[in-house]
This record gives sequence, C-alpha cells and structure tokens, in this order.
Amino acid sequence: TPRVFSGIKPSGGLTLGNYLGAIKRFVGMQGQMETVYCVVDMHAITVWQDPKELANMTREVAAGYLAAGLDPAKSILFNQSQVAAHAELGWIFNCVARVGWMNRMTQFKDKAGSNAEKVSLGLYAYPALMAADILLYHATHVPVGEDQKQHVELTRDIAAKFNHDFKSDFFPLTEPVIEGPAMRIMNLRDGTKKMSKSGESDMERINMTDDADKIAKKFKKAKTDPEPLPETVEGLAGRPEARNLVEIYAALSDMTPEAVIAAYPGAGWGTFKPALADLAVAKLAPISDEMARFMADPAEIDRILGAGAEKARAIADPILHDTYDIVGLLRS
Ligand code: ATP
Ligand code: MG
Repeated sequence: TPRVFSGIKPSGGLTLGNYLGAIKRFVGMQGQMETVYCVVDMHAITVWQDPKELANMTREVAAGYLAAGLDPAKSILFNQSQVAAHAELGWIFNCVARVGWMNRMTQFKDKAGSNAEKVSLGLYAYPALMAADILLYHATHVPVGEDQKQHVELTRDIAAKFNHDFKSDFFPLTEPVIEGPAMRIMNLRDGTKKMSKSGESDMERINMTDDADKIAKKFKKAKTDPEPLPETVEGLAGRPEARNLVEIYAALSDMTPEAVIAAYPGAGWGTFKPALADLAVAKLAPISDEMARFMADPAEIDRILGAGAEKARAIADPILHDTYDIVGLLRS
C-alpha cells in the first residue's frame, strides 16, 4: 500500500520554505494514501538546541502542520523521540551505511562549513537516522524539498545494502517520489543559498509567524539586481534573486513562473515586491492565526502527538523486531 512519510526538524520557527517545500504538499497528499508526518526532534539536536526551547519548538512545528490542514484523524502526527524504534533502527543503519557515502552528502558540507572537526557525530550520521525514519514505515512516497533529495537517494542505497547483506527484498527499494517540481526557496539576502529556519539572520527568511509589517519589510529589503522583471522567464537566467521572488509568487498563487512574468512583464521592484508581500500576507495570515490558536493549548498538541506516537509504534515496532531477528540481535 502506498504510504507517505516526511518530517520537519524543530530547529527554529517554520519558514516560507518549509511551508511551500514541505507542509503544503504534505497536506495535499492527505486522504489520497496513508500519511505519516513527524516532528523530527532527534534530528534537531544534531546541532545545539536549548532544552527549554526544544519542547516548545516541537509544539510549534506540530501547530504548523495542524494549522495548514493536517487532520490527526486522517494522518499520523507525532514527534520522533516518542517512538524509540527510530533511534534503534538508526543505529543498525549506522552499521550498514559506509563512511564514504556520508562523505558525499552536500548538506553536511554546507552545515559543517570549515568547522567539520567540531560538529557533532550525529550531524554526520543524520542521513542514516533519516533512512530509518522512512524505512520503518516502508514509505513509498517521501515529499521533501530539493535540499533533501540526496538523503532520500541514500535511503535507497542503505536499503539495498541491508537487503544484500542480510535478507533480500526486506526493505522496499521503491523510488521515493518527490511529488511535483522539487521546490527550493532561496534566502532573501543571498539568492544562491536556501532559506533555512536555522539561518543566521531573520531578514533572510519569512517566518510563518511573521506579521504583515514584517513580511512587507522583508520583501522590500530583499536583495535584487537593479534590472526590472524580464518580459519572459528566459530573462531570469543568471538572476538568482529575481528568479526566487518570481518562484515564491508562483508557488503561493499556484501559478507557473511563466504566468507570473506574463502578469508583470517588465515590472519594477517597486511594483512587484509590494504585490508579492500582499500575496504572502493573504496566504500566510490565516495559517499563522490558526497556529497561534493551537499554541494557546499546548496540552492539546501534546495529546495529539502522544496519540500519533501510539499509532506510529503500531507500524514501526513489528518492522524493527523483524529487523532485529534478521540481524541476529537476541530478543527473549
Ligand atoms: P534547518 O536550517 O534546521 O535545516 P530547514 O528550514 O532546512 O531547517 P528542515 O527541518 O531541515 O528545515 O526541513 C524540513 C522540510 O522543509 C524538508 O522537506 C525540506 O526539504 C524542506 N525545506 C527546507 N527549506 C526549504 C526551502 N528553502 N525550500 C523548499 N523546501 C525546504
Ligand atoms: Mg534543513
């Protein structure tokens, strides 16, 4: 049976990139197949998280899913650390994945920068835990943004090596579908870097909780080149900041970039940026209002996550136990 799995780290407040690249698509898949969505708190601690903040960030990410339309009656929603099978299968995959494979992960290189000796071992091993997240549910669909594509491909390699070393056909090798165009929303201050919740400056991202004034200010200050919008999309070549703003407009309005350019041919930034800000406010305000409503009742969020974890364990535990038996780890 087709089953979707995806996750978001509670490593900061949700951004427009998380919404367009992940949450919006997650909600669109609900009801079409079995959907399992996770707040991956164990991935978040691969970099330092203030323990006083982490539980609240976990609730905020859950509130983002719920506010965008995730229905706990239709989808399983939980936080990763409540389902111990993730950590347990993650360890087995640490022993299956090869160091050479990890060395090719571009996101590790981006995140570690010139500091690779000082980052946590968890940050390096994180794609093996992500493979466990996906394979514990035998997920056939993994909707993620473009930046996670390489990790999803690594999951396939880990499954193939496990099957080869231990038991053929145990983990599915289904090509994980990355639905629709793989989305990559870029940083508002540097169009060659992706927008991230953990990025240094607040001005480089739109947060799901930003109010209308903040959103308008951030788009107004967004870096662009001095040229106006082109007459056709081909004119966006070599203009990463201009392309990004057009693509954000397109994703928010469910239009193609061609149609956006056709609606604003040759427009100046003084015209386009306020239009983009108005569109973003119109789309995000209802969601951020809902998020605030959910955040006002943390006990209810905790209850939803706890009930989701129970459902997740019912799927994950039998798969973990079979894996233990196959590997020869004694259970008595
Ligand atoms: P961090 O900076 O802590 O890595 P993040 O913003 O990259 O945070 P993640 O929790 O790593 O968020 O990713 C959650 C989901 O959001 C993933 O599916 C990821 O591909 C997607 N995503 C993150 N940033 C973007 C972006 N800029 N454009 C499109 N999708 C994105
Ligand atoms: Mg990320």
